[in-house]
Amino acid sequence: MGSTSKIEIKISALENNLKFIKSLLSPKTITSIVIKGNSYGHGTQAVVPILENLGVNHFSVYSSAEAKIAYYARTGNSSIMIMGYININDYDWVVRNDVEFYISTLEDLKLAITTAKKIKKKAKIHIDVETGMNRTGLTASNLRRAIPLIVENKKYFEIVGITTHMAGAESIANHVRIRKQFSVYKRRLKLLENHGISSSIKHVASSAATINYPDMRLDMVRVGMLLYGYWPTKETFIQYIHRKKDRTDPIKRALCWSSEIIAIKIVPEGEFIGYGMSYQAQHKMRIAIIPVGYCNGYSRSLSNSGHILINEQKAQVIGSVNMNMIICDITNILKVKVGDPVILIGKQGVNEITFSSFSEMNNSMNYEILARLPENIKRSIIT
Ligand SMILES: *Cc1c(COP(=O)(O)O)cnc(C)c1O
Repeated sequence: MGSTSKIEIKISALENNLKFIKSLLSPKTITSIVIKGNSYGHGTQAVVPILENLGVNHFSVYSSAEAKIAYYARTGNSSIMIMGYININDYDWVVRNDVEFYISTLEDLKLAITTAKKIKKKAKIHIDVETGMNRTGLTASNLRRAIPLIVENKKYFEIVGITTHMAGAESIANHVRIRKQFSVYKRRLKLLENHGISSSIKHVASSAATINYPDMRLDMVRVGMLLYGYWPTKETFIQYIHRKKDRTDPIKRALCWSSEIIAIKIVPEGEFIGYGMSYQAQHKMRIAIIPVGYCNGYSRSLSNSGHILINEQKAQVIGSVNMNMIICDITNILKVKVGDPVILIGKQGVNEITFSSFSEMNNSMNYEILARLPENIKRSIIT
């Protein structure tokens, strides 16, 4: 191991999950795969060519920096859509290379116009309308101001899409708010249409809305988490599975993160383990040291609570997560020796580690830990 841990990406899992997503959609609906955050930690350079091979031809990123990585990772002619930030110096590159981008403010719109004029090429835009999340998107008053600008400068654009983002479709508690957002979205579409502004790709759904709100799938869905093999929340899984005869999870985790044991120790009863006094051995214990800590992507919030797999069994992280190491309790795991592999995320035997399993209240841990996996850990591709 060049680094102290390794990451494997399983093609068969991505293929399985893509098939599952497509099985929910009408054949006309485009599947845009969200690859922001280094493809949720899976590695954009590894993931994009695999997905293109599997038939994906639309990718969503957050920023122009991410768009460049995706653009140069492409092996085909896939579309790339920026849903968020474009560095001011990147507008020329974006327009020149047919990269699609959101218009969320009047400034975005003006920059799109000036760039298109300068490059002599239409900007491929998605009009992002604010519908109730109150994050990005053109508010009602800004939309009214944007309309004449769009109409006057029509020849500088290709209006590829009209979009919004739902504020938490993964939880039934947000149902009323999500429904309201969708009706505001439809009103905004009408308003734009009344001014002759329309697009063939209307899109609002992320993974959760794709599962929970079939009428919101529209012309395109923007799916991240499900593709990588995670349900946005346990609730989303339950809502989906409870309508099915077959209760097995239809998606598979695509990423396996592993390391190895570098030392094993016996600790007498009563001793403290690790920094400070957050963990005291209540009996004679056997512990294993793993060379992965918060600087390697193993969150400090897993101190005294995370689990890893050793010999197919769960071992708890004890004490605080250090910068480069964690300590795990292996008292009850037999036949463990230095050099044995350990699984930090992924499957070994019948057991599997996902971070939501430690924080039942908060599945967003999956998003965060995956997205924070360091870019410099090599991603190996396995079938
Ligand atoms: C991240 C993101 C998505 C994808 O969300 P998942 O829950 O991973 O499917 C879709 N749309 C926007 C605007 C996003 O930021």
